[in-house]
Amino acid sequence: MKTIVITGGSRGIGRATAVLAGARGWSVTVNYTRDAAAAADTVAAVSAAGGKALAVQGDVTVEADVIHLFDTAQAAFGPLDGVVVNAGIVAPAACLADMSLDRLTRMFDVNILGAYLTAREGARRLPLDRGGRGGSIVLVSSAASRLGSAGQYVDYAGTKGAMDTLALGLSRELAGQGVRVNAVRPGIIETDIHASGGQPDRAQTLGTTSPLGRPGRAEEVAEAILWLLGDAASYTTGALLDVAGGR
Ligand code: NAP
Repeated sequence: MKTIVITGGSRGIGRATAVLAGARGWSVTVNYTRDAAAAADTVAAVSAAGGKALAVQGDVTVEADVIHLFDTAQAAFGPLDGVVVNAGIVAPAACLADMSLDRLTRMFDVNILGAYLTAREGARRLPLDRGGRGGSIVLVSSAASRLGSAGQYVDYAGTKGAMDTLALGLSRELAGQGVRVNAVRPGIIETDIHASGGQPDRAQTLGTTSPLGRPGRAEEVAEAILWLLGDAASYTTGALLDVAGGR
């Protein structure tokens, strides 16, 4: 059975991924920043689904927190097989001309630096030549990386472009050491992230403009992530997999 770490696993796509992994009997370490109750609820749901789980508080922008997350996961469940680089934020819709330095700094810190620190920890622990047993890293990017999100959040879209590039480069760096690296690019998915960007009904309103005519569900993204984490995707690396209803 596999052992994985998920950043931002307390809610939304991270939570759905944790629960689906639990249903396959995997051991899941769920990271979160603020919402301990939501993280505890995810842990209970993973256990109820048949897996093992643990919640670890930590901010992905803090190097010591990321190292602690991985150390705790390995102490509890043994060598890692997979990492889901999922934690991410949006901010209220705005044009670039009106974005503050604080906003840009936080956006790039969480979505780029946090992703790179998390992926780096995977790159230190999974490869065969570093004592790992190989595995899979999945980056949760966004369709925004190819759409650009004009007038809404070009900052966020750019951070997801960085994640796509990381997936391409790191996949080649680690291919010879038994580690696959891929990204999923969700479209408009029903989670709390839209409320945090000041548009709680965004998924319902914009989601219907997708070719499939509806927003996606976190569970539908989790299915793609689980496929990339698992052995069924053994020949897939460096892929950017759209889960965006045709957007
Ligand atoms: P969400 O419901 O807002 O959940 C975000 C998760 O990230 C929470 O568990 C949150 O923990 C955690 N988090 C936030 N900042 C963190 C930090 N600095 N360190 C560690 N954890 C942190 O978001 P979601 O919609 O599931 O999104 C998950 C990923 O999918 C993100 O990368 C997002 O960009 C991407 N995505 C989402 C959509 C969509 O439509 N929902 C579309 C494309 C891509 P706390 O609650 O404890 O803060």
